[in-house]
Amino acid sequence: MLAGAALADNLPPEPERQLAREIYKQLIEIPSGFTTGATTPVAEAVAARLRAAGFPDSDIFLGGAIPRKFNLVVRYHGSGKRKPILLLAHTDVVEAKREDWTIDPFVLLEKDGYFYGRGTSDDKAQAAVWIANLIRYKREGFQPDRDIIVALTADEEGGGPYNGAKWLVQNKRELVDAEYCLNEGGWGESVDGKRIANDIQVSEKSYVNFRVEVHNKGGHSSMPVADNAIYHLAGALDRLSRFNFPLKTNEVTQAYFRELAKIERSPVKADLEQVAAGSPQAMQSVATLSPVWNSMLRTTCVATMLEGGHAQNALPQLAAANINCRVLPEDDIEYVQSTLTRVFADDQVGIKLAGEFEKGPASPLRQDILKAVSRVTDTMWPGVVTVPMMVTGGTDGRYFREAGIPTYGVQGFFMDRNDVRAHGRDERMGVQAFYEGQTFLYQLVKELSK
Ligand SMILES: [Zn+2]
Repeated sequence: MLAGAALADNLPPEPERQLAREIYKQLIEIPSGFTTGATTPVAEAVAARLRAAGFPDSDIFLGGAIPRKFNLVVRYHGSGKRKPILLLAHTDVVEAKREDWTIDPFVLLEKDGYFYGRGTSDDKAQAAVWIANLIRYKREGFQPDRDIIVALTADEEGGGPYNGAKWLVQNKRELVDAEYCLNEGGWGESVDGKRIANDIQVSEKSYVNFRVEVHNKGGHSSMPVADNAIYHLAGALDRLSRFNFPLKTNEVTQAYFRELAKIERSPVKADLEQVAAGSPQAMQSVATLSPVWNSMLRTTCVATMLEGGHAQNALPQLAAANINCRVLPEDDIEYVQSTLTRVFADDQVGIKLAGEFEKGPASPLRQDILKAVSRVTDTMWPGVVTVPMMVTGGTDGRYFREAGIPTYGVQGFFMDRNDVRAHGRDERMGVQAFYEGQTFLYQLVKELSK
């Protein structure tokens, strides 16, 4: 259903749409959840398509941490004038149980203007579009001034030992080495069917857990003493609940609030402008208004799990909690840990790092990329602003950022800001949004490589 000529112009030609849809359907219908599935069949299916489209075997790589968790890397050669550009998407999906969904999650269903299925938004749309567009460039004889590399990778969701992005960076760096990388993490925001902003993810907070423990010799509960492990821990957590890390902005969040202010119509507009300008009062009021904004303006630490005691009639020998922190790119982990120690203010309360800490630095706010994104965005959807984002969750982008390959999350798939179903039930993607995203990414990569 096409409403007018302007929208029709945003759609790829019919044969290109068909190709993208076919690949999309094929990817959705291969169950590639972390525990139930493998990503190798996805990589192999895509490799077969690329070979059929004339890509030589020497430009296609299949491999991964284990035989079930293969990644695919394909290279489309340019003149080599500039360093390659890497286009990334993950091929695994979050688990989906048939009984939880109203439809079969592993059958692509087109209904009422939406594509339904696990992975329709996260992240098989981008994977399908990267491949369809690459085949199209080749067919059209497009000659980029740099190599265009597409990497479809394993096990982004929930990490695990077979993460393909990490594996490629560590084991096949030469295959994925690039000036920068485009990835998931940014999307188009719609409200009530109206497109508002096309987000580009430039950086992300890092994720870290601390284990907090209080040990005590314990004793008989009929003879309690003041020195109690549970009370020590409770006191420390209570102090944490009343503590906030300092509010601050960085290059990316300043740009975010500045762009957001342009499209805001409510009275908060002035505060958003002031946040971008660095006003502490405005940061305070904006952080109070919204947990999302609060999380963009400071490092956060919160208690998420609790354990303690070993018998109903004994004084506890152990009380422990998990503290989950989301750390701004400019804050380091030693600072976070020493701040927690200071806030707990109790030398009975021990604190140590739990699990790994993988910190991805921010990508520089490159004007060439921002300008290209906003040019294509504005041509396709006049009036829609391009908003740089620091997301508070995580993507595979961190492995590339860590390796010195700046990574930008951008998709151009628009979805309702208030109905994001990634990871949830009946995940879906608008049909029009999918094809428009196909055009957007086709144009964007072309702009960046000619
Ligand atoms: Zn994803």
